[in-house]
Amino acid sequence: MTNWEFSLDCAKKLDQNDKLSHFRDKFHFPTFSDKRPIYFTGNSLGLQPKLTRTYINRELDEWAKWGVDGHTRAERPWMPYHELFTDKIARLVGAKHSEVAVTHSLTTNLHLLMVSFFNPKGKRCKILCEKKAFPSDQYALQSQLQFHGLNPKENLIEVEPRVGEHTIRNEDIISIIEDHEDEIAMIMIGGVNYFTGQVFDMQKISKAGHKIGANVGFDLAHAAGNISLKLNEWNVDFATWCSYKYLNSGPGGVSGYFIHERHVSNENIPRFAGWWGHNKEDRFKMPDTFSPIPTAESWQLSNAPVISMAAHLASLEIFDEAGFENLRTKSIELTNFLAFVIDEINKEVSINLEVITPKEENNRGCQLSIVAHGAERKLFNQLTAEGVISDWREPNVIRVAPVPLYNSFEDVYRFGEVLKQALKI
Ligand SMILES: *Cc1c(COP(=O)(O)O)cnc(C)c1O
Repeated sequence: MTNWEFSLDCAKKLDQNDKLSHFRDKFHFPTFSDKRPIYFTGNSLGLQPKLTRTYINRELDEWAKWGVDGHTRAERPWMPYHELFTDKIARLVGAKHSEVAVTHSLTTNLHLLMVSFFNPKGKRCKILCEKKAFPSDQYALQSQLQFHGLNPKENLIEVEPRVGEHTIRNEDIISIIEDHEDEIAMIMIGGVNYFTGQVFDMQKISKAGHKIGANVGFDLAHAAGNISLKLNEWNVDFATWCSYKYLNSGPGGVSGYFIHERHVSNENIPRFAGWWGHNKEDRFKMPDTFSPIPTAESWQLSNAPVISMAAHLASLEIFDEAGFENLRTKSIELTNFLAFVIDEINKEVSINLEVITPKEENNRGCQLSIVAHGAERKLFNQLTAEGVISDWREPNVIRVAPVPLYNSFEDVYRFGEVLKQALKI
């Protein structure tokens, strides 16, 4: 890090030493602009792997060839199609095979999991979450409370940053949990905050939650495929994520979820059931009583959306080929390089760029959220005109996520150059 320079030469050298640099060629980059794109929104919608088309076409061909018989006779039969994901997903989130499944969409899974893990009783009826959670999560939490006849204003405890700070201290979360030890029924936090990019200490939060008798869950939309996860070891009760952000599985792609092994075969947990959660042995005998599979699969309602899952499978093959630990190592370096470039720009321009994402590499993934003090939206328009695809939040926050699978050090350098020029105008 000490010998980095904000120069094309330095970026090119870093790319030459990057063992994963060839993965970039496995993705389609947007072609709508006449400028070479700098795609930094993998935190919102990951790029399309070139392999995806092949995987989807394969299932379309199977459908054309077999019709309904594809459920059993396709090369990858559709009936157990979701089983193709178990091992890959378990490795990605640090889970046992019995703890994960892939189906539905993210907010749907969040609701289904809360049906099981938010069980308000008497005084213990509150939910703790982070302030400014992703809007869908806020609506989901509020409506779960209302579903139980509880007023969200009184029963949603939101932890916020201290005055003058941008991120939430883990110690503040822990002390609020302790302050409400008789009242909190469930803790549900975004494992990586979508706005600031902050990673929460999921192990400590789980431990503190369990100590007071609460269930603890995480929305990992911004964590899955971005940071290393050890959900089983961290003792998390439940978690869910989408596959279209860092997992590159296409718009609205399927979601994955985790339920800790200590819960998966507990038939007393309330849940909404569907036939795809029923025991595989007699599912097609169509018995009239639900008998759950003794794994996380029992939370599946419907048969697998194979076409969209084919896209997910293509993407996971690429993750396996690259190796997640290698990706994470590159990700840390790439984001550190971006932070370095921003420091260098600050030396040359009058507008101050303040990175509100935590500095320590364990407390962030690849995203940096940058406040451009005094800048206006025209800065963002300028970036866009130069081919930078990033994300702007009013009044002046730019979110950028260099993704290790397809972004390069040169992308970071070029982004820095464009940003510097735009700030000089
Ligand atoms: C992206 C995202 C969502 C989106 O939910 P969908 O059900 O996939 O539309 C929800 N929550 C968080 C934290 C997200 O980052």
